[in-house]
Amino acid sequence: MKPVRIVFVGPPGSGKGTQGARVASEFRISHLSTGEMLRQLRDQSDDDCKFSSYTEGSILAPDDLMIELVAERLSLPDCQAGWLMDGFPRTLSQAQAFDGYLNHHGDQITRVIELVADADGIVKRLIERAKSENRPDDTPKNIVERLKVYRVRTKPVLSYYRDRDLVTQIDAMQDIDSVFADIKKCIARS
Ligand code: ADP
Repeated sequence: MKPVRIVFVGPPGSGKGTQGARVASEFRISHLSTGEMLRQLRDQSDDDCKFSSYTEGSILAPDDLMIELVAERLSLPDCQAGWLMDGFPRTLSQAQAFDGYLNHHGDQITRVIELVADADGIVKRLIERAKSENRPDDTPKNIVERLKVYRVRTKPVLSYYRDRDLVTQIDAMQDIDSVFADIKKCIARS
């Protein structure tokens, strides 16, 4: 089987993290969460202001930083067998820069999986997540703002990949096992 290289695109709370962990273990590939990378940088950094504005609010981190983090991570040996991107690319310019990187390395995205979720369901899920995971960015005001950022900044990424017939939509409002079953089928077919 050729290496699996998957991009997850979906609004906050659509289950990218949960499903990403499952897919990574099922297909023995690396799960790269850019949100997690930023939270680690925040925790390691003495002056955490810069990173906490990204991990605790609704502001996106700069494209250059994200591309650098992803490129550095992809060069490590554990990514050679395949990877799943969770939270990247999140803007059109990240998607374009990512293509440049992949072309340069002779790699290709196998499939882009869009986790489709409705706004009401998401708000409910994120409020629950705020309680159980201690995520400071999951406040009601931030949630609304992050959904808007998703609509305005990230949705264009989907059109970009749709033009190349790379996108499969999956209903992310089903229960966790059904979403996972759909994702597995989609990856197995790609
Ligand atoms: P969620 O998908 O629930 O919004 P993440 O854990 O993926 O949360 O990301 C948390 C925050 O980190 C985002 O709200 C954003 O500010 C920042 N972030 C993560 N990935 C990127 C990215 N590719 N580009 C810019 N900012 C990012």
